[in-house]
Amino acid sequence: MKLDERQLSDLLRTLTLTENAELNCEECLAAVAAYAESELAGKTPTEAFHQVQQHLKVCADCNEEYRALLEAIQGIS
Ligand SMILES: [Zn+2]
Repeated sequence: MKLDERQLSDLLRTLTLTENAELNCEECLAAVAAYAESELAGKTPTEAFHQVQQHLKVCADCNEEYRALLEAIQGIS
């Protein structure tokens, strides 16, 4: 699944609006590909991505998914 830029900004806006609530796994996985690409691009994480980061720290399942994505993206480029 690849989000285009508009879908991504919609998603991030949604995440930012709920900034007091921690991400659940579904929300984290929806954003994790964009987060991984942003990381690899060396971009400064946005507020929404901080929540992804936070979730990855506490959730082994999503962290595993994130690592797999990083490897996949690095493998392509
Ligand atoms: Zn999770």
